[in-house]
Order: sequence, then structure tokens, then C-alpha cells
Amino acid sequence: MSVKVAVRVRPYNSRELELNCSLCVAMNGPTTILLDLEDSKKNRDFAFDYSFWSHDSFENDENGYSRPIPGSKYADQQMVFDTVGTEILNNAWQGYHCCLFAYGQTGAGKSYSMVGYGANKGIVPISCEEIFKRIKKNPDSHLTYEVQVSMLEIYNEKVQDLLVPVVKRPTGGLKVREHKVYGVYVEGLTKYPVDSYEAIEAKMDEGSKHRTVAATQMNASSSRAHTIIQIEFKEIKNVDGRKSEKLSVINLVDLAGSEKVGKTGAQGDRLKEAGNINKSLSVLGQVIAALADKAMGKGKNAVVPYRDSQLTRILQNALGGNSKTLMICAVSPATDNYEETLSTLRYADQAK
Ligand code: ADP
Repeated sequence: MSVKVAVRVRPYNSRELELNCSLCVAMNGPTTILLDLEDSKKNRDFAFDYSFWSHDSFENDENGYSRPIPGSKYADQQMVFDTVGTEILNNAWQGYHCCLFAYGQTGAGKSYSMVGYGANKGIVPISCEEIFKRIKKNPDSHLTYEVQVSMLEIYNEKVQDLLVPVVKRPTGGLKVREHKVYGVYVEGLTKYPVDSYEAIEAKMDEGSKHRTVAATQMNASSSRAHTIIQIEFKEIKNVDGRKSEKLSVINLVDLAGSEKVGKTGAQGDRLKEAGNINKSLSVLGQVIAALADKAMGKGKNAVVPYRDSQLTRILQNALGGNSKTLMICAVSPATDNYEETLSTLRYADQAK
């Protein structure tokens, strides 16, 4: 199992601009630096695989750190796709399962990076488009491809099929089961065969609508749930009637916001919800760290705590073995979010 971690800082939002917040994030190559504005000796460096600056233009300060030029344009989604998304697709083509996670506090840019907004398409739609482009370009007439898509959500440890209308969902959620040969699966989850990018897009739009309706009915926000888009990608080779298959599942995961909810005053459902989110995010961190250790020959006999959360159980097949995992950690650039940014960078650091 290999894990790569990218950090992406978004531009200031209007609230941060109004508050006149200072910048507390700098980047130097793949390193992200959290600046301590009072004492630069307390700056913290975090080395990652990639650090993405969200501006086209930046200037270097006296230490060589890049900072945004006020008013400069955003870095485009294509660049993030070219680096992170292409790796996912290459892995899928080689028959590996893979996971791409977006982690960070609400409003830090997870959905922007994954799905995107309007014309600013994120990694998920660009990757889906690319899948069909690659299939079309394939010159080997022995190869055919089958692509299927599913979309699910985990809220309060309950798993729901986002491609099923809210009224038709089982109240207790779907069950996660284990098959002796095929491993862990969600029982009854629908999979739709798709043969074009537009077909995937239509399904994702449908799922997102159901997601919002459900969140409103539960009086929650959709940022309190984990959303998983699964793309099952099968390459079938047929040489003179002899068939062989290569299967890869690409898991694209928009995680629930990592902010500390309910430090004060949260009660009842809110408290339960916050507890479940914290738990699943920390179990995910532990699972990734344990697998990364194993890959380096450390802690060979350590138990990987997949079963401690629905999120890691569902992703178990895609996290272990020869799989590839990428994590995009989204952060705000502003001092106002310093503590949350620090906690995101620490999380990212332990996942490496
Ligand atoms: P999250 O999914 O983490 O809650 P969003 O992705 O919805 O956060 O981002 C919050 C807002 O910030 C959105 O309006 C989005 O358009 C904007 N935004 C986030 N990341 C970027 C980015 N890299 N470049 C430009 N705008 C961004």
C-alpha cells in the first residue's frame, strides 16, 4: 500500500477578507509551512508529496516562501488533476484499487477539489472524462472495458445508497458484509453501468440531490456525512476466446468536515454526530498509518483497525494490499483558522 499526501490551500473567502485576516500558510516546493506571525522561530514545516498553492501568481519572500499576490487568479483544477488525478487513473489501469480522500474543515475546499463548482470541474469529473477518453483511444482490439458507478453516504455510522431516492431507503441503513472471496461489500448497493462521462455526471447529480434532501430532513448539513463515489473499472482481455479480467475500484471520498464540533454546548444528536465523525476520521488516520508502517516493514503483526468505523470497513479492500491511496488536505490560508489548519496538517502528517 502506498500513500501520497497533498495539501491545497484555498484563496481567502469573503469573510476572511472582511476580517482582514493575515496569511498563515506558506509553501516551498512540496513543503507546507504554518507561519507563527509572532515568532517566526515557531513556524512549523510539514513535508508532503505535493503542496498546492491556489494562485497562479505568487511572490517569494526573503526565505524563499511563496505567498499570494493579492488579487491574483486561482490555480486551476487541471493542474491538481494532472498531478493527483492522473496517478489515480494510471493505478486503475494497472489493476490496483485506489482511494482518493479529501480531508479538511468545512469550507476549506474539499468539494471544490473533488467535484468542483460550475465550470471549475474538480478531480472527479475530470477523471471520469479521462477514463472514457482513454478507453476510446485504446488501440488493442483484444481489450474491452466495463465501467459501473455507485454513490453512497455514511452519516452517523449509517450507510445509505445515494442513487436511491430518500423515501425508498431502509431506515436502519445498508449492511456492510464480508464475502470470503470478494471481501467487504455493501449489501444491496446499486451499481449502474455507464458508457460515457455524461452518464456518470447524471448519476452524480442525482446522488448529490438526494444527499441534500436527506441532510435537510435530518436537520443536518451534508458536510456532516462522508460521501463515497465508487467507480468499478473492469478491463476484459479476449485473445482467441481466452478471457481474462482486471478489476479496479476507484473510491473518491469527500470526508465530513474535520472541524471540532460541539466543543461547547452540543447535545443529543449533534454530540452523537460529532463523536461519530471524529471517530471515523481518527480510525481512518490510524488505518492509513498502520498500513504505511506495514509497507515499510514496521509493525508487521499489528492489527489494522478497519472494523472500528463504517468508513474504513467499506474501504477495506481498497486500502490494504497493493492499493494506492492519495489524500488531499484542504486548508484555509487565514490566521482565523490557524488551529483547524494546524490540526489538518498534523493529520496529513501522520497519514504519510
Ligand atoms: P468544503 O467542501 O471543504 O466544505 P468547499 O469546497 O465548498 O469547501 O469550498 C468553500 C468555498 O471556497 C467554495 O465557494 C469554493 O468555491 C471556494 N474554494 C475552495 N477551494 C478553492 C480553490 N482552490 N480555489 C478557488 N476557490 C476555492
